[in-house]
Amino acid sequence: MSQISQSQLLGPDDGPAFSVHRPDGGSPIILLCEHASNSLPKSLKQLGASSETMSSHAAWDPGALQTALKMSEKLDATLVQQRFSRLVYDCNRPPTSATAMPAKSEVHSIPGNANLSAAERFARTSEIYWPFHHAVSDVIARRASEGREVVIVTIHSFTKVYNGAVRDVELGILHDADARLADRMLDATKDSKQFNTQRNAPYGPQDGVTHTLQIHGIATGLENVMIEIRNDLITDDAGQLAMAEYLSKVLEASL
Ligand SMILES: [Zn+2]
Repeated sequence: MSQISQSQLLGPDDGPAFSVHRPDGGSPIILLCEHASNSLPKSLKQLGASSETMSSHAAWDPGALQTALKMSEKLDATLVQQRFSRLVYDCNRPPTSATAMPAKSEVHSIPGNANLSAAERFARTSEIYWPFHHAVSDVIARRASEGREVVIVTIHSFTKVYNGAVRDVELGILHDADARLADRMLDATKDSKQFNTQRNAPYGPQDGVTHTLQIHGIATGLENVMIEIRNDLITDDAGQLAMAEYLSKVLEASL
């Protein structure tokens, strides 16, 4: 039998594809952060991308991980994060998606993603995408085996200016076919003037951004929601803390 398990992408210095924080968290909420990092495996040599691209929202969701970590602490919730840039593999996209390993993102070009071979695509899918989603499935399965309730909450950030257009929305509450949790969160925020909060904005399921919700929430019947935070609100510790406190309260009121 042939073996194709040898790593082509991640070396010993890169570490694993994902991290699990607070694995024994008492909350039913499992926080996920697919775009937590702008790190690249050493073997990819920065993908030929500029350092401006690698620090931009094209490479990751700035502030999302720090906000999610603070929510994990406040809620006593398990958090699973991806440890590599979405430009290596965007874990919120299926392997069949053209944007899973994009050669262009908004105004940024990523030369190292142009003309990827089947073997290169396979390596990224098997070493980045599957380990992350298997880790999420493992956490869910363990909870289920303990008879515990599970709620899936993914944490993202978006840029205020995209393709030259300014976005007024500050908080997006996103859902796909299952709107149960999103409906309750929108209800819990409707009287608050704290943040401009909108349903399925600045993206929605029509933009292909609900892959994680589909596979871990909708396919399993678990309640789920995707939270998009405008990244200018979470650039520093104070902003991340204020957002984490707000979202934790809204989530607890919505369970
Ligand atoms: Zn994101």
